[in-house]
Amino acid sequence: MTVTANSSVLTGLLHSIFGFAQFRANQEEVCRAAVEGRDLLLVMPTGAGKSLCYQLPAIARGGTALVISPLIALMEDQAAKLSALGLRVARIHSGLQREQARQACIEYLRGDLQFLFIAPERLRVPGFPEMLAKKTLALIAIDEAHCISQWGHDFRPDYRMLGQHLPRLRGTNAQTQECAPVLALTATATPAVQQDIIAQLGMVRPARFIHGFRRENLGIEVVEIPVPDRARTISNLLAAAERRPAIVYATSRKQSETLAEELSRTMRAAAYHAGLDSDTREHVQRAFQAGQLEGVVATIAFGMGIDKANIRTVIHAGLPGTLEGYYQEIGRAGRDGAPSRTYLMHSYADQRTHDFFLNRDYPPVEQLNAIFQVLADEPQPVEELRALAKLEEEEFAKALEKLEIHGGARVDFGGHVTRGGTGWKKTYVVQAQHRVQQFEKVLRYVASSECRMTALVRHFGDEEDAARPCERCDVCDPAGAVLKQFRRATHAERQIAQRIVDELRPVEYKASGTLQRNLDLVGRISRDEYEALLDALARAGLITLEEAEYEKDGEVRRFRKVRLTPAGLEVRPATPLALLIAHGVVEEFGARGGLPVPVKRTRAVAGKKNAEVVPSKLTGEQEVLAARLKEWRSAEARRLGVPAYVVFHDRTLMALAAARPANVRQLLEIDGVGPAKVEKFGEAILSLCAIQ
Ligand code: ADP
Ligand code: MG
Repeated sequence: MTVTANSSVLTGLLHSIFGFAQFRANQEEVCRAAVEGRDLLLVMPTGAGKSLCYQLPAIARGGTALVISPLIALMEDQAAKLSALGLRVARIHSGLQREQARQACIEYLRGDLQFLFIAPERLRVPGFPEMLAKKTLALIAIDEAHCISQWGHDFRPDYRMLGQHLPRLRGTNAQTQECAPVLALTATATPAVQQDIIAQLGMVRPARFIHGFRRENLGIEVVEIPVPDRARTISNLLAAAERRPAIVYATSRKQSETLAEELSRTMRAAAYHAGLDSDTREHVQRAFQAGQLEGVVATIAFGMGIDKANIRTVIHAGLPGTLEGYYQEIGRAGRDGAPSRTYLMHSYADQRTHDFFLNRDYPPVEQLNAIFQVLADEPQPVEELRALAKLEEEEFAKALEKLEIHGGARVDFGGHVTRGGTGWKKTYVVQAQHRVQQFEKVLRYVASSECRMTALVRHFGDEEDAARPCERCDVCDPAGAVLKQFRRATHAERQIAQRIVDELRPVEYKASGTLQRNLDLVGRISRDEYEALLDALARAGLITLEEAEYEKDGEVRRFRKVRLTPAGLEVRPATPLALLIAHGVVEEFGARGGLPVPVKRTRAVAGKKNAEVVPSKLTGEQEVLAARLKEWRSAEARRLGVPAYVVFHDRTLMALAAARPANVRQLLEIDGVGPAKVEKFGEAILSLCAIQ
């Protein structure tokens, strides 16, 4: 086996075999490591091109690559693609005739195959691993490797067996003393799952490639909205054609139906959920793909097969259960690279919904045990078991499903159940606990005042890429938010902000509760107002807020560490603090019916509020607007019986003419325009500004 990782050789294969013009980001680096025989863990988002990273090295190394994949559909898809490229491929899974599997084994042993795809449960078949071990493999690729981790939502106990079989399958080449490298591939693995994969597979000093989670063109918004208001907000939001096509993720079938109905009034929209028959589902999917539908309101069952590049908006009409799922779903927006926005709506009520889901999806371990106790080595019909276990139909179905997943029961095609191993309890309990923790991470994410994209990138373990704010989300660019409304901090709030900064200057950090008490704010502003002020300071880049916990009386308590940033340290008593405080949700938006004006705004750093810089010279168009505003101001002043400057200073008027705000948020950005003025004059000014 000659192993060359020469760049031109790799590029040559890329052109001649795969017909691709060039490597995508990171592919070449990964291929080189694999060709050189290194174990590697590859974590890249769906669609990034992970398959090539084992396929090309397999060809470069020569011999047969063993590919382990959990789903027949995935296997069939990959195998068909490789065959179409003229490569020699076989697969062995339960959907095939015995004869086909036998033929595949013969070809494998003859050394005729370049790729052999198998499902992990094959390794349970007596003699099969031994048969595989007769040949030295080029490499072993494990697709969807997160299935091996009991923390992953797709945990498959059969993947656990890989660990014990891999040493033999890897073998050792007599000539080169080298053994086949193991390549683990997945799109969703947090650092904990990554560690688990490496340990379970017994990977040797693996190279880790964790890349590509940042999406430059996605603007993420997280908004607190009461459940009853969501339908109207979503429908207003999507009324602008520029925000479509759109996917709305609903938390229940019922919500998906009602939202779809609401949307249908203004656009071609449909519901999509697991309760619909497969014909309807397929029809919806196809119509959306083809552009006949502009909106789909779906439960999580939607999107696996969606390959639509121009989705402009993804909305979560309720809290998702995991950040992994959430990321996958928002990731469906803007595949074409054009600016796209995603909105996550939440409120306290979502937490209760989730507790309900958790209890439903992860029944108490006692229920699983009730079934396990009545199982025998002889297959029993499902219905008989249910009677013996004394469980309600729905409870029983869920508990049996979990028991099967965790290896405590085997269900055959005829609906007969046999007793499985005893190890199920441990993995089940760990998985259920992990689900709770995952949801807690979602809660922390929505409450956080860290850049949304950075938080997600870090969640997936790409620390290297986690240092840079995205400049597009509701945290980085509050003024650019579409749904979330901000107001300028009042004088009193700015004073408290100054005191917060002063209080933090001499210390490394303070717990947010302690800080509030030290400043004697308890009772003077509410906890919510105080927290909103901290968030505003964090958004302005003056402080950081870090989630932390401590134990007291055997209970874990959470708190936030408040710390000054270098910019915060520079704040002096005289520094004007331009802070934007979260202030509900925009009711009317897109005054001009379009997307938010794509001006890039710098973060509201102390003393550098962009609208404060009054231009000395106005353009012709701006002059016209200034004249119009002056005329209106005189009339307004006369009407109110006040001097003109009480309505607006000249400075403010010029700034208005220069900025030509299109909505209330942009209006609030302008110095001299506070909430009170917006309330009194906002509408009039916006309509003057809208005249072209
Ligand atoms: P993943 O497994 O990471 O989800 P795939 O390996 O299935 O993604 O690849 C997604 C798509 O990208 C496939 O259609 C594949 O052919 C294509 N692709 C992969 N690498 C390249 C490349 N270098 N140039 C062009 N297309 C590529
Ligand atoms: Mg893949």
